[in-house]
Amino acid sequence: MIVKKPAFKSIRGISIVGIADKLFDIEIKHGRFVSVTETEQGATAIASAPSDSFSTNASSTNASEWEKAEIIDGSGLWMSPGLIDLHTHMAWTDFDHADQDKRDPAEVETMQAQAFEATLRTGVTTVRDAGGLAPSVASHLVRTYGHPLRIDNASHMFGAADTSLGIEHLKRKADEVFASGANWIKIMATGGLGAPTEKVTDPVFSEEEFAFLVRYAHENGRKVFVHAWGGVSIDWSAQAGVQSIEHGMFLTSDQASRLAEANVAFVPTASIYRIAADPQGVLALPPVIRERAARAVEAHANAVAHAQKAGVRIGFGTDYATPHLHGRNLQELYTLLDYGMTHQEIWSSATSEAAHILGRSDELGTIAAGYLADAVVFAADPYLAKSEAQLRQSIKAVLTGSDEKELSTLAD
Ligand SMILES: [Zn+2]
Repeated sequence: MIVKKPAFKSIRGISIVGIADKLFDIEIKHGRFVSVTETEQGATAIASAPSDSFSTNASSTNASEWEKAEIIDGSGLWMSPGLIDLHTHMAWTDFDHADQDKRDPAEVETMQAQAFEATLRTGVTTVRDAGGLAPSVASHLVRTYGHPLRIDNASHMFGAADTSLGIEHLKRKADEVFASGANWIKIMATGGLGAPTEKVTDPVFSEEEFAFLVRYAHENGRKVFVHAWGGVSIDWSAQAGVQSIEHGMFLTSDQASRLAEANVAFVPTASIYRIAADPQGVLALPPVIRERAARAVEAHANAVAHAQKAGVRIGFGTDYATPHLHGRNLQELYTLLDYGMTHQEIWSSATSEAAHILGRSDELGTIAAGYLADAVVFAADPYLAKSEAQLRQSIKAVLTGSDEKELSTLAD
């Protein structure tokens, strides 16, 4: 159930994810929270006694009521800010790009629209697309199919094909990306699953090229995120002050300290490597790729621990790019939990911390007056859900603070 930009909702006596033993009255007008106050004692029956097991409240407000009613009984329900996935590829339909090129364009578009819908339904209301989605295509999909997903966009991925062609080439290419409407520059600074493990941290760009791209993006008001499994590209990223490092499984503790000092965030995208390493996994990759993914998995928990210890801001991102994965984004929460983060920390990584990384912490990622009313409503306490499937199935409604018109730049 997606409730788009509600004109008015008053939700009485609802829990907010992460705040124990309190209930709230929340009012939304024209897609924004206008008031969030603690429910007065006795005004509403206190929610079911605290429980340590996950049981969804089937009798509470049914899903369609979220669309129709203006006044809603929130008892037995939990609200979270809409989740922010900092690393997706919404336009991709296949792990291997050659497979996407073989598909009929109409089929590709249908699959892309399905990815938008599946992502919203799982409570992800904002994504930062990490490459492959032109802003004009994003607008078209949002508007035509009516899926009001909020999208920050990189469009192009600067990588091996952009190296050794001179600074003029990088400048020209960056100007094209700016003109496309993208607000981020994505740099593929190291190899990935396509590279042998012993070479994967070698820098793709020269230091001069890398520094130019970051400086030029910042001069033009764009933010920068850097795909880097490890190595010197991470040092350059700290020096240049990029917004975030992606993947980073071979991050050292020393580098983590420098990222923290330079206020560079870390988006591990940890679950995708587990999925890639799994012989029974949905990606069904050849053994050589699975083996590389397994090396990444071995290292990732340490990288997350280094980042946590140094005080690096950690953001939620999935790197999901196929129909089996779009809509299963909440898996990343459980991987981060396995890697030593707390419930509070994983939830922040996908809400307030992610909003901060986007530079939008004044309007996203928090349930407070004045913020956009992007929100997810659960029929049980998400902290008690034992798996992605349990958590996903407990979603009662997803609210968006904007509608598809506002989120597309297409002319009427
Ligand atoms: Zn990616």
